Parts: sequence; C-alpha cells; structure tokens
Amino acid sequence: MFHVLIAEDSKLFGSVLVRTIEKRLPDFKAHWVETYQETEELLAESNIEFFVALLDLNLPDAPQGEVVDLVLTQDIPAIVFTSDISDEARDRIWAKNVADYVFKEGEQSIDYIISLLNRLRRNQNIKVLVVDDSLFSRKIIKDLLTIHQYIIYESSDGLEALEILKNNQDIQMVITDYNMPEMDGFELTKEIRNSHGRDEVSIIGLSGEGSSMMSARFIKYGANDFINKPFLQEEFYCRISQAIEMIENVNKIKDMSNKDFLTGLYNRRFFFDSGEKLFASSKRKHTTTTIAMLDIDYFKKINDTYGHDAGDEVLRNLSKLLSTRFRETDIVARFGGEEFCLLMTSMESESTFKIFDDLRKSIEKNSVQVEDQTICFTVSIGVCTRHRNSLAEMIKIADLMLYNAKEQGRNRVILDV
Ligand code: GH3
Ligand code: MG
Ligand code: MG
Repeated sequence: MFHVLIAEDSKLFGSVLVRTIEKRLPDFKAHWVETYQETEELLAESNIEFFVALLDLNLPDAPQGEVVDLVLTQDIPAIVFTSDISDEARDRIWAKNVADYVFKEGEQSIDYIISLLNRLRRNQNIKVLVVDDSLFSRKIIKDLLTIHQYIIYESSDGLEALEILKNNQDIQMVITDYNMPEMDGFELTKEIRNSHGRDEVSIIGLSGEGSSMMSARFIKYGANDFINKPFLQEEFYCRISQAIEMIENVNKIKDMSNKDFLTGLYNRRFFFDSGEKLFASSKRKHTTTTIAMLDIDYFKKINDTYGHDAGDEVLRNLSKLLSTRFRETDIVARFGGEEFCLLMTSMESESTFKIFDDLRKSIEKNSVQVEDQTICFTVSIGVCTRHRNSLAEMIKIADLMLYNAKEQGRNRVILDV
C-alpha cells in the first residue's frame, strides 16, 4: 500500500482528490488533513510511512507554505498545489526542493497528479547511473533524482561507469557529464551504444560548456537528450521523465509484439526468434537443449461444460503455473489454443523425465476456481531431449511424442528415448 498525505483546506478539492486517487490507483491510500496543525499531529502520532505528500501552500494556519518544510523534515517527497503562477512564486516553490507543483484548476490538475503518482511509483524500480567527476554536481543530480524516487548509482569517470553498467544490466538511464578525466562523456556514450540501444539505456548528456554544438554532438554520439548546466529543476525533471517514458513505451510495444495477450506468456514468434539463438549457442557450447510440447487434455470439453470465459481462466492459470516453475533463461511460450512449447537449456538428462512428470502431477493436483465451479484438468507432454539438426526438427519430434502421449490415453509424459 502506498500512503499519500494530503494537506488541503478546500473541502471540495480535498474530497475529489481522495476519491480520485483511491479509485484510479487501487493500491494507494489517501490520508486527508485540513490544517498545518492536523498535519503535524498526523505525522507525530501515526507511524504510517508516507510515500508522498500533496500539499496546499496556503493553509489557514500556515499561509506561506510552512507545511512543505514540515513534511520535508521527514524526507517525504512533496507535491504542492498553488494558484499563483508568477515566476517568483515558482522560484520560491522550487527552492523548497519539491518533487513537482500543480496548478489547482479542476479536472486537468487531478489527471496530472494521478500520472505523477504513477510516475513516482514506477521510478522506485528504475535504476539511474550518474557519471560526473565533480562530487558537487553529482550530489545536485543525485538529490533531484532521490526526490523523484529513482534508484541511483554513481561514478566519477567513464571507465568505471562502463564497469557498473556491465554489472547492472537493468540500469535504464545514464546521466553523464562531458568533461571528465580518463574517458569523457562522448566516449562513454559511444561505448555504451556498442552494446545498448537507445531504447534500452537512455543517455542524457550534461555540460557546463553549454553550446548548441555540444548538444548536437552528444546526440550524434547516441545520447537521447542533453541538458545544459546550470538548469532549472523543472526542466531537469521534465526531460528525465520524458526519456524514461520513451523507454517504457518501447518496452510496451515490444511486449505487445512478443507476448500473448491472454496469458502474458511469450508467443510463437518470440519463441522462434530467441529459441534459435539459444539453440545455436547451446550447440556450440555442447550443452543440452530440451524442447517440450504441452497440450491440455479434452480442453474442448472444459469450454463446452463451463463456458469460454472459464476456459480462458484455465489457460491463464496454467500459464502462471508454467512461468513460475521454470528458470528466467528458459522460454515458456503459448503456441496457440491450449498448446504450449517450452525450451530449456542445460537440463540433466537423468532428471528430464522426473521434471516433466512432476509438472504433469502438479497440474493434475491443481484446480481453478471460476465463480462457484472448481475445474480440474490434465495435460499431455511430449519431449525432445537431444539436439537435432534444427530447432524446427526438435519441435517436430516433441510434437510427435505429444501425439503418442494423447494416443496412449493422455495425462502422461513421453520422451524421445
Ligand atoms: P485433446 O485432448 O486431444 O487435446 O482434445 P482437446 O479438446 O483439448 O483439443 P481440441 O484441439 O479438439 O480442442 C481445443 C479447443 O481449444 C478448441 C478451441 O475452441 C479451444 N480454444 C482455443 N483457443 C482458445 C482460447 O483462447 N480460449 C478458450 N477458452 N478456448 C480456446
Ligand atoms: Mg488439447
Ligand atoms: Mg489441441
């Protein structure tokens, strides 16, 4: 549960906020107070760990944004509401190190708050590497990123940055200075791009020698964006969020084309794309490749008896079971209908039968609850345990073994030995 502190004296705005947040973000809980004093009491008396605070700068007992300072002493990121849009007001707000500010102007501002809360929640899983030889600059960037909840890694030169990136393949963004000893920002960008595309790791160039030449060159070397130092916090956050959203959108599109919509498992196309690579590499390394075809028994009868929606639920249930049972490096794919194909590498041949038979037994024991019906089902599994000339040939053999398993009465595992 993510707890949100709301300090807002407008009854209308406050109640709309609470309602909208809890409706659109089911894992968020809103705690609404109306004055500075109530905020102070809530922070002192409850032991709730607040994820973020939404604060009105003008409360009846704190007209100068005092509530922001109060909340920040507890390290809670603050988002503030204001109706004053002057430059001075904006400067004053940012000077308080807030996460963002929102103009109070109806529905649009509520939408913005919801997307901001979503952003901050997702940021908790996003790793950013900050590369700058100046400890001071690094701290400025780090503090800004911390407020926005990112996970931060830091490095003082390009060579070390490459090492950190190599050891943390899930870093999604690198913010790099230009001028550094050992390896400068251009070189670092070029090196990262040898192994990571623009849609895998977002690179943001940074420099105090701000000329438009600098930004063009950073981008030509492969950076996604460039920020001149010194910068406004607001600009920094806008550019970082935009770059992260670009990566998220590309990943969404990739998932849509590689994954099956109903079950979230990989689809046939992805299976062949990645499977061919795994097959070739395991052949080279003389490790084993195992292919299993799995098909639900009498699935048509499940649809006929319980309805198509219940059939879908069975497919989802089985998919979850399959994906929790195998390793990250294995591929579990839905080939179509109620047929699944699995690819495993480095499986010990003595244990192959047991692994699949245990899987079969656990599926037999498993049941799916759909409304007031309990549905049980079984599967037949055909396995190809040895390397053949091609992946396609291995699948064909696994398919033949599956056919034999069906012929011999279903709910069984047959290997090609
Ligand atoms: P066998 O034991 O020989 O495998 O028999 P079966 O009934 O499982 O196999 P059959 O191929 O005769 O029927 C498969 C059924 O799966 C027919 C089809 O309507 C159903 N099906 C295919 N895709 C889906 C789906 O996405 N959702 C649901 N609910 N049913 C599906
Ligand atoms: Mg079937
Ligand atoms: Mg079938």
